[in-house]
Amino acid sequence: MKYVLVTGGVVSGLGKGVTASSVGVVLKACGLRVTSIKIDPYLNTDAGTMSPFEHGEVFVLDDGGEVDLDLGNYERFLDVTLTRDNNITTGKIYQSVIDKERKGDYLGKTVQVVPHITDAIKDWIQSVSIIPVDGKDGPADVCVIELGGTVGDIESMPFIEALRQLSYSVGQDNFCIIHVSLVPVLGVVGEQKTKPTQHSVRELRALGLTPHLLACRSAKPLLQSTKEKLSLFCHVPAGNILNIHDVPNIWHVPLLLQSQNAHEAILKQLNFQIISRPPCLQ
Ligand code: ADP
Repeated sequence: MKYVLVTGGVVSGLGKGVTASSVGVVLKACGLRVTSIKIDPYLNTDAGTMSPFEHGEVFVLDDGGEVDLDLGNYERFLDVTLTRDNNITTGKIYQSVIDKERKGDYLGKTVQVVPHITDAIKDWIQSVSIIPVDGKDGPADVCVIELGGTVGDIESMPFIEALRQLSYSVGQDNFCIIHVSLVPVLGVVGEQKTKPTQHSVRELRALGLTPHLLACRSAKPLLQSTKEKLSLFCHVPAGNILNIHDVPNIWHVPLLLQSQNAHEAILKQLNFQIISRPPCLQ
C-alpha cells in the first residue's frame, strides 16, 4: 500500500479535506484505485454527539457511522463507499487500547502513549487502508490520509509520531507528504507572505515529517517569486509547490491540481511505474 498524507499548518479550515479529496481525484484519473482515511484528533469517538453549530453537519455513512463532513467529500469526489473505521479519532484509539488493557492483552506491561497508542494508530491505518471501498475486489493502490487539525497541536502529536513511524517502515517510495498551508497578503504591504508557511514546515520537519509537496492556500495565484522563496526556505522543489487559491466552488480544485501537474509529482514520489496519461477531468 502506498500512502499520501495531507497535513495542515498555520490555521484550521484551510481546505485540507478539499485538497485531500482533490488529490484522490487526480490520482484516480491516472488509473489508480484510491481509498481514504480521515484522522480527527478530538476525544469524541465520532462526530455524532457534536453540535452542528460548532462542527458542521454530521455525515452518515452507509454503515451508520456518524462522521466528519470530509468523509462526504471523499465519497462524492472519489465515488467510494467508506466505513466508520475510515474515520479515526483519538476517542476510538484510546477506547480500543483501554479495552485491550482491561482484557489483560498487554500481559502486565505498562501501557503508554508510545508505543501502545502509536502502535494502535499504525495498525488501524494499515488494516483500514486495505478495505476495498470502490466495489472492486482487493485493496486500493493508494490511501489518502488526512490529518485533521494543525501541525503542532498537542492532541495530534501521537498521530504525527505514528505517521512518522509508518512513513519510515513503509519506506520513501510508499509515502508522500503534502502540507497545506496559508500564504496571506498583508493589506498595507500588498505582498504574499511566506513566513507562516516557513514556520509550519519547520514545525513539521522537527516532528520528523518532511513535506514533498506544499499546497498553498491564498486569495490570488502565487507569484513565481513567492514560490521560489518558499522553495528555498522550505526545502521543497518549486515544481512541487502547488497553489490552491480561492475558487468559486470546490469542484475547481482538482482541475487546479491537474493544471499544475500535481499528479506527476505525487506519482514520482510514490515511484509508480505506470505511464500516466494526463488525466482528463474536464
Ligand atoms: P479543513 O479540512 O482544513 O478544515 P475544509 O476542506 O473542510 O478545511 O475546507 C474549509 C472550507 O473552505 C470549506 O467550506 C471549503 O468549501 C472551503 N474551501 C476549501 N478550499 C477552497 C478553495 N480553494 N477556494 C474556496 N473555498 C475553499
